[in-house]
Amino acid sequence: MTRKSIHAWATAALLLTAPTAFAQKTYLHCGQLLDVRSGKLLNQQTIVVEKDRIVAVQSGYTAASGPQDKVINLENRTVLPGLIDCHVHVEGETSKDNFIKEFTQNPADVAYEAIDHVNKTLMAGFTTVRDLGGSGVNVSLRNAINRGLVVGPRIITAGKAISGTGGHMDPSNGYRLDLMGVPGPAEGIINGPDQARQAVREQYKRGSDLIKIASTGGVLSVAKDGSAPQMTELEIRAVVETARDLGLAVACHAHGAEGMKRAVRAGVTSIEHGTLMDDETMKLMKKYGTWYVPTITAGKSVADSAKIPNYYPPLVTPKALAIGPKLQGTFGRAYKAGVKIAFGTDASVYRHGVNALEFGYMTEAGMPAAEAIRSATLSAAELLGRSSDLGTLEVGKLADIIAVDGNPLQDISAMMRPRFVMKAGVKYRQD
Ligand SMILES: [Zn+2]
Repeated sequence: MTRKSIHAWATAALLLTAPTAFAQKTYLHCGQLLDVRSGKLLNQQTIVVEKDRIVAVQSGYTAASGPQDKVINLENRTVLPGLIDCHVHVEGETSKDNFIKEFTQNPADVAYEAIDHVNKTLMAGFTTVRDLGGSGVNVSLRNAINRGLVVGPRIITAGKAISGTGGHMDPSNGYRLDLMGVPGPAEGIINGPDQARQAVREQYKRGSDLIKIASTGGVLSVAKDGSAPQMTELEIRAVVETARDLGLAVACHAHGAEGMKRAVRAGVTSIEHGTLMDDETMKLMKKYGTWYVPTITAGKSVADSAKIPNYYPPLVTPKALAIGPKLQGTFGRAYKAGVKIAFGTDASVYRHGVNALEFGYMTEAGMPAAEAIRSATLSAAELLGRSSDLGTLEVGKLADIIAVDGNPLQDISAMMRPRFVMKAGVKYRQD
């Protein structure tokens, strides 16, 4: 047979064995299903999944109709949309030797560790994450997951984050002088609007899905100040305008109020952490429709780690102790003020896979459980610009479905007990 005729034969065989009229359906029998829009639990529902999408949601338990159809019994579970964490770093994880690792790890070492991080994240019920910065391994990992080579959540990544020289995202902070070099826009380090534009285009070229900047200092960078502004408003505007042209959103790390205000006025999509957010900033965020991604878990975790002697470099410890404990209170005030909130934890600052701790901290600070869950589903999908695919259990959406043990509206710790995880119609966990 010639190569051409083999191809024709194979195509014909494929057509014969793939009868689209009898596509396999999966019926999920859900004891309770959380409607995240209304915040109400519905009893005894069936979700019908075909390929990667939800094709029906029916009242009662529907029996399978075709011989190839499957039923999944979740009659003792509470079923929810797959969770979305809007602030993680897939590449790293907190440890006492993190600073030294920058000098000892090759990109492949980073990648192998990251595989473990994303496995744990998916098994914890987080089917989508927004990765807010790493070395570029994050872009490759996203692609590997999309190709089915690695098991993990859907990743939307910012690639390498952007700030000024000596700023929170300068990869050479704390190095010996002869190792510092002069990182530039290709490394995410900018000085002036022109370099800001170049850095955004560089990230676009490398395949980043959004842009992450730091408009103020941060806790874990080896630098003295954790909250003062580190980018001019003109630089931030240049980032936002260039990103908008390329169809990219901008997430902005900020702890101090001045850096937040500059970023909000410049039109960033979200403020991350927002620790020292004042009333004026909250008003400004409501006016501009800016999202707030609180990361309370990170705040608590850095404050705890800072109490362990020599856990962080000496410049970092006082910042962690001063800034960390304030996040939960800020979140509570922002919630009451009516700022739009999307769930995010900064996983990596604490260990991956316990992202759901954030739900407990949010409810502790005054947010009802149903709203906390909405922030990690419906609202998070809106922040990502993916509402047509993600965030609810409705016909036409991707079949990202999880089930937990217990009723999370009565006991939010149920979110820490995932028992079933499906992403885009593929089952990854069923206990
Ligand atoms: Zn972060």
